[in-house]
Amino acid sequence: MELRQVSQHVWVYPTDPNRALIRPSVGVVVADDQSVLYDCGNSPLHAQAIQQAMQAHGLPPVRQIVYSHCHWDHLAGAQVWGKVEVIAHRLTADYLERIMARINQRADIVRYIQEEAPWLQVLYDGVIEAYGDWELYHAVMPTHIFDEPYWRLQVDKLCLELEHVGGNHSDDSVIMRIPQDGVILVADALYGSPTVGSKPSALSPDFALIKRIQAESWQVLVDGHIDVFTPVTFSRYLEKLRRRYAR
Ligand SMILES: [Zn+2]
Repeated sequence: MELRQVSQHVWVYPTDPNRALIRPSVGVVVADDQSVLYDCGNSPLHAQAIQQAMQAHGLPPVRQIVYSHCHWDHLAGAQVWGKVEVIAHRLTADYLERIMARINQRADIVRYIQEEAPWLQVLYDGVIEAYGDWELYHAVMPTHIFDEPYWRLQVDKLCLELEHVGGNHSDDSVIMRIPQDGVILVADALYGSPTVGSKPSALSPDFALIKRIQAESWQVLVDGHIDVFTPVTFSRYLEKLRRRYAR
């Protein structure tokens, strides 16, 4: 995959078109002599590929990582980034604590999925694919937790705005805006999801949130698993979604 500059300060390591790899996009915000990541790879292997791409483009070292939400494919590469500040919403931190407690009792998570949460099978299979074994999975816990709906991260002269939007996909979803660049990073917040943090019934895209985001002025929207959108390509994508879900 090619790391791609989408605005003055923002680069994107795009989602892998090979869906089976479950590698969502990662945002790299470069401010002066440091970089901030929005998500950080689904595994050490994915994160190392991003590191190499950053080095090839001469991007500065990562000092901070922001987790978009608790799903493993967005954050399980955190362990390769060394000693960095990891920023997450309180709900994300709580989910990660519970997930790690389950994973530390491997037999328990297998039973739990089989008997109580069959929709988690996709997550289980994905971790096996990326890691080989649940026991190798390791989530890095946040070092800075915020409770507020809005949180600002000032890096040099650049302001990164975080908003806890919650929604259908996972109620801990946090999006990031870089207003100076007209960029918005939403990860999976606009989708439905049958996994951790949401009910299996919540499969429909989050049309209420989509409507709100679409009404804002931005030039680039980066989501987790589909694309890097312009307002025009985003409108086209929404037309298709609305037809599919008869909205
Ligand atoms: Zn997700």
